[in-house]
Order: sequence, then structure tokens, then C-alpha cells
Amino acid sequence: MTKDPNFSASRRAFLSLPRRSRDAAIRPPRSTEASIAAYCTGCQECTTACPENIISLNANQRPVLSFDSGACTFCSACAEACPTDAIDAARDITWPWKAEVQEACLSRQGIMCRTCEDVCEPRAIRFKLALGGKSEPLIDVDQCSGCGACAHSCPAQAIRLTQPETKTEKIPA
Ligand code: SF4
Ligand code: SF4
Ligand code: SF4
Repeated sequence: MTKDPNFSASRRAFLSLPRRSRDAAIRPPRSTEASIAAYCTGCQECTTACPENIISLNANQRPVLSFDSGACTFCSACAEACPTDAIDAARDITWPWKAEVQEACLSRQGIMCRTCEDVCEPRAIRFKLALGGKSEPLIDVDQCSGCGACAHSCPAQAIRLTQPETKTEKIPA
């Protein structure tokens, strides 16, 4: 597919869309709600390109990530495959997602588990011991890349990705 010749000019348009920090859809890296809303055509090129098979189209035919089948390696294959730059348009915006541990965590209930710590390559997870054989997984959000490896591997499905802060978006020129 050929890119729209007016795309560069339209991409420079300032887009400032509020997004909810906790329950927003997880868009592919290098994209935002604004860039997807502005440029995505639902062509599925990104879903086909992702080697981890973690991108699908939602009911609105727009790409969302889930970590059921794997984690994001930030390989940029989705951005490179996107014919409209709906994904790559936000390449300069920092990926906002961070891991957050939920109540279902086994360690919190005194059941031995260190799966998330074991799979976390940036070593963003450490455990704080508590009474009764319990321990609390703590996420260092500065180290967390938002890759989703912990969410994918957690046997209790006790980790989800959230955005710690609500931000506005600006699509870079
Ligand atoms: S960056 Fe790579 S692994 Fe991550 S969603 Fe895109 S294609 Fe998939
Ligand atoms: S992998 Fe899941 S259940 Fe195990 S310690 Fe981490 S958050 Fe808790
Ligand atoms: S999302 Fe990735 S980097 Fe962040 S805590 Fe989980 S495994 Fe570690």
C-alpha cells in the first residue's frame, strides 16, 4: 500500500487527546490513541507482522496488544509494516505502560512463586518479605519496560499493564 502523499503534513497536526491512565487499550509501541485514531485503516498489516502474535484488532478494527501468547520485544516490526505510519508516528513518545501486581498474586497469599522475577529481563521486580510466609512483588517502574513478560508468565494472571500517569499526546512532526 502506498502512503498518503499528504501524510507528512497531516502528521504534523497537533493532536491532544486525553486518555484514561488505567483502562485504556494497549496500543502497539510507537503508537498512541491519537495516532491510531488519526491514521489507522484497520488493514491488519501489524497483526500479521508481529512475530510474538500479540497484536489483534478490536471490535473497532484497531490494534490492541494482549500478553496471552507472548511479550513485546520492541522489535518495531509492527511499526515498519504499518503502511500509514499510524504506529510509527509516535516513535518519539515513551511507551507508557508499566506492570502492576494485583491481589490474585500467589506470593501475596503465602504460596511460593517467583515467576515474574525470573522472566523480567530488566530486573524490575523484587520481593519484600512479609509475615506468614507471604511476600510482596514490587515493581520498579523506572526499570520496567512494559514488555508484558511477567503478565504473560504469571500463573495467577495477577499482573496487568497500566499507565501510572494520565498524559496528553502530541504527534511529532
Ligand atoms: S514491537 Fe514487535 S513484538 Fe512488540 S507489538 Fe510490535 S511487532 Fe509485536
Ligand atoms: S508471577 Fe504472579 S503469582 Fe507469581 S509472584 Fe509474580 S505476580 Fe505473584
Ligand atoms: S513488564 Fe517486563 S520489564 Fe516490566 S516488570 Fe514485567 S517483565 Fe519486567
